Amino acid sequence: MKSSHLTEENLQAYLLGEIQEKSIAEHLSTCSGCQKNLEEYHRLLERIQKINPEPFPFDLTALAMETVIRYEKKRSLKREWVFWGSLFFLLLGISSLSIPYFSEIKAILYPKSSIINLLTIGTGLAVLFFLTADLIRQFNKKTTQLFKNNMQPTA
Ligand SMILES: [Zn+2]
Repeated sequence: MKSSHLTEENLQAYLLGEIQEKSIAEHLSTCSGCQKNLEEYHRLLERIQKINPEPFPFDLTALAMETVIRYEKKRSLKREWVFWGSLFFLLLGISSLSIPYFSEIKAILYPKSSIINLLTIGTGLAVLFFLTADLIRQFNKKTTQLFKNNMQPTA
């Protein structure tokens, strides 16, 4: 058996003690190439055995982290939905309330020069912007408290 080298399957089986043929041991004692292969498999087996106990705690940590991240994401998403929903209905309410006055507003704006029109619109937009900014700030403050209380019901 000196001429034919040991196959990978034979080496692995021999290493794991699945086969104990004398011819394999004899070949290994005379062939440095197969000895080297056997050593490599041995090292690989040792590495695998060393790694084996690790995956469980690692996966558990990753799973916990993932759950926390997912929860946080869901929470902020929920918060955003509540905010934009409220804002939408608020604007819808304001718009529907101001519909009867549209013709009056138009009548006020129409006869004036374009500069005054621009100024009026600009002022209106600035007021709307500051009102919205204030609304967002107050809403964020309120929801932060609300969601904090949700997490700690006793507070
Ligand atoms: Zn060999």
